[in-house]
Amino acid sequence: MRILVLSDMHSNLEALNACLEVAPSCDKVANLGDIVGYGGSPNEVTELCRKLGGFLVRGNHDKACTGLMSVEDFNPVAAIAALWTMQALTPENLQWLKLMPQGPVFLPLRYPANQEETWAGTEADGVQLVHGSPLDEDEYLLVMRDAQESLLRTPYPLTFFGHSHIQGGFALENDRWETLRPMYQGAPDHHAIWALDLSGHAKYMINPGSVGQPRDGDPRAAFCIFDPDRYEVTFYRVPYNIEKAQHQIIAARLPDRLATRLAEGR
Ligand code: ZN
Repeated sequence: MRILVLSDMHSNLEALNACLEVAPSCDKVANLGDIVGYGGSPNEVTELCRKLGGFLVRGNHDKACTGLMSVEDFNPVAAIAALWTMQALTPENLQWLKLMPQGPVFLPLRYPANQEETWAGTEADGVQLVHGSPLDEDEYLLVMRDAQESLLRTPYPLTFFGHSHIQGGFALENDRWETLRPMYQGAPDHHAIWALDLSGHAKYMINPGSVGQPRDGDPRAAFCIFDPDRYEVTFYRVPYNIEKAQHQIIAARLPDRLATRLAEGR
């Protein structure tokens, strides 16, 4: 079985399409939220995510862009983008985004026969999906110190999270804490993969990275694939047409900074 894990698309259609072209065929999709905000193609990206379906968790930008949360806590650039997005979204897309579930969301990996729809399972039977952290949907897990309480308190061996836009994650195995950062080889204008064998004795918080606005210094779009049978996560970085995504932002008269940062991966 293969699960496609996407997060933080941020209305960047070029980046999302590039990821879907490179990704192998998958049995399920896990979408960790922030489908919209920042980028210039909110309707196209929302429609593509609606089509992909799968297991969804809302992000803070999905809330702000649909009026579920005020933009007061956003920086001015993010607030301008959220208000523009709210105006640009079709009523159907806005309504769909508004109904995205709050995390944590349980993604089952084993089902009793014919009970797929209603079965809740236990933590041993699946993984959990969150936008920020299992304790707070809007919390940033940037460094190990931020993730420690979540790792200690969650009963799930494996949690997928987004929000920080930093690919990798954190692990706890027998009192040993580890920060995970994919190590890629090859030219930066090619796509790259890095496979991580998971240990059956550790707890993990794994971030697939941001599809539409990476902030870890690598401007390539990011996602990951989880294979529960091999108990392995494969991280991907995919080059995409950044100029076209920048053009969409400028054409929408969104702040320039939202375009320039895409080329920096910051
Ligand atoms: Zn985000």
